[in-house]
Amino acid sequence: MRARTRARVVLLLGFGAAALAAWPAAAGPDDLDCLALRLGEPQADLVPAGQRAAFAVMDLSRGRLVWHQQDAWLAQLAVSPGSVFKLVTAYAALSGRLVDPHRTQRCLGKEREPDVGGVRCWLPEGHGPVSLSKALALSCNRYFAWLGQELGGEPILAAARELGLGRSTGSDLPGEVAGGLPSALFPETAARLAVGQVEGLRVTPLQLLSLVGAVGNGGLLLSPRLAVPAGGASLPPRGVLGAPEALRFLRGAMEEASAFGTGSRARLGRLGLAGKTGTTAWQSVSWRTHAWYVGFWPAHRPAFALVVFVHEGQGADEAAGLAGRVVERVEQARAACGGGAP
Ligand SMILES: [Zn+2]
Repeated sequence: MRARTRARVVLLLGFGAAALAAWPAAAGPDDLDCLALRLGEPQADLVPAGQRAAFAVMDLSRGRLVWHQQDAWLAQLAVSPGSVFKLVTAYAALSGRLVDPHRTQRCLGKEREPDVGGVRCWLPEGHGPVSLSKALALSCNRYFAWLGQELGGEPILAAARELGLGRSTGSDLPGEVAGGLPSALFPETAARLAVGQVEGLRVTPLQLLSLVGAVGNGGLLLSPRLAVPAGGASLPPRGVLGAPEALRFLRGAMEEASAFGTGSRARLGRLGLAGKTGTTAWQSVSWRTHAWYVGFWPAHRPAFALVVFVHEGQGADEAAGLAGRVVERVEQARAACGGGAP
């Protein structure tokens, strides 16, 4: 037993050396104390009146939560991930080398094309020919529905498990739930799974935070923690992702999503934030949606990961807008603490 534990530690340390090449210029424990203290309780003007939202910012060196709101939602709310799950589908395709990421699919738009496995693209005029990278940046449903059918459900679910979904993150927030993955999949549901809209798929904000943190830091799945060991010691990661090339690809696509979008997304690019939006229907009787944003920054050398969840958000731009305000305030606090984005 002891030998097995030692072997695992050696394995983690061995991989850690590779992952550390892409490791952020980590803020030390004192910097993070200063940051958490300066940020304090989220201000009332951060979230527009009438909007209900949760967010969390995690340091990528040790998983410390430096700023967060609505802890109960972060740990206990398990809902559909919507398009954020396209990161998982892309990871499945890339890590297993199951498709050529440069191969394009033509998206003709909502009205002009038959659905693929029950999925249509949300953009009326269509995205035209898209490769994997462009499909992620533009969140093209048509491409991912095709990809889901190419891959089948099992590799996507295996990637979801590797990325930490379907189990607790091991955070120290009270009452954390494990969310859920579909237990049985029919071949015809693979397209809906690929775009994150299938029955039984439920994720918590903390799970998405840990997942996007691992994309940002090169493969270490961290447990988001309110308290970390004193003196700079690190908790072991809860998992190590085995496909660094796939993660590099995802980082590039998420950076593009922020850089060439419009409105608030373009603003995110200027903040150095790389991310992915998601919107998901949560009530079938009337059209209501939740909105997600997950990301990390600075894009070229990630130091922090972020998750935003907007309850009954009208669209992904609301979550992206809140993400921008959160990052701005964290950067102001970092500058005041003597740090700030390079
Ligand atoms: Zn499309």
